[in-house]
Amino acid sequence: MNNPQPATCKGFSLLSGGLDSQLAVRVLQRAGAYVEAIAFATPFFSPDAARKAAAALGIKLHVVDFTADELALVENPPHGFGGAMNPCIDCHMTMIKRAGEMMAARGFDFVATGEVAGQRPMSQNRQALGIVERGCGIAGRLVRPLSAKLLEPTKPELDGILDREKLLDISGRGRERQIALAAEFGIVDYPSPAGGCKLTEEGFGRKLKDLRDHEGLKDRRLVELLSIARRFRLRGGTSVALGRDKTENAALHAAGFGTLLAPANCPGPTALIPEVKSPEELADAAALVATYSRCDRLETDVEILVTAPDGKQRRIRVPRSCDRATFKPYQIM
Ligand code: SF4
Repeated sequence: MNNPQPATCKGFSLLSGGLDSQLAVRVLQRAGAYVEAIAFATPFFSPDAARKAAAALGIKLHVVDFTADELALVENPPHGFGGAMNPCIDCHMTMIKRAGEMMAARGFDFVATGEVAGQRPMSQNRQALGIVERGCGIAGRLVRPLSAKLLEPTKPELDGILDREKLLDISGRGRERQIALAAEFGIVDYPSPAGGCKLTEEGFGRKLKDLRDHEGLKDRRLVELLSIARRFRLRGGTSVALGRDKTENAALHAAGFGTLLAPANCPGPTALIPEVKSPEELADAAALVATYSRCDRLETDVEILVTAPDGKQRRIRVPRSCDRATFKPYQIM
């Protein structure tokens, strides 16, 4: 089913690509709406699933860069974090605000989400739905088609341009009704619920908090670097990203900033230091690279090739050591 013709109203629906967000689109269309989708992109979640879903649903998708908003919320989330560094209530509210701005600018009638009342402990309990409703700036025009009949009627419903009778009354954590609806609508391809946002991962959250507390979150390159490689905060405060495999080593080389270190006379990882603050800290990072290299067959010191941000190269010699335990206390995991 594509958008109905003629539609009785127009709405933007937030689309993650998950099942609920896809169902929301289909339910809105069945209730008479023309629907376009909005997906938000940051270094913490990709709009790829939304792109796939929009293509399958046959609707237009707007991908909006949400990085500046998300970083500001990670710095200061008015409603706090979930289990990790995920400011879900404020994130969700701000996404709806941004969608509301697009609604106003383009003359659409409402913004919709695939939220289900009572489904998630933090972001979709009744209180959280109310907080989002009041804080998003589009009260009365925020439609939750999957739970609409359990909530106050919205303006398009009251105006009779969105058929409330065709909206649903799903609540709670069960998935049976959604699965049945997916079959009814022929939706077969969707990622698992609640997946895909790195901010909900505790390990990633610790790395992000470390960055926030040291270098801050202003430099997007540093934020993007968190998704690549292991992270160490060495004595003196130097931050080091250390590749785990060829792919991560290549990604660190391709990052295009910072000082790179890699063993020159044995296989081993690449390290990227965003900012070298002293020769001692560079030596420490070189020892880290040597320790994680395959230096066990060497009969000499490990030679570390250092490439400065201006491309100039030099070599540092580091005694062989395979004792990774020395560096474990400095790894953020
Ligand atoms: S899971 Fe991530 S993207 Fe979703 S609301 Fe929470 S912080 Fe925002």
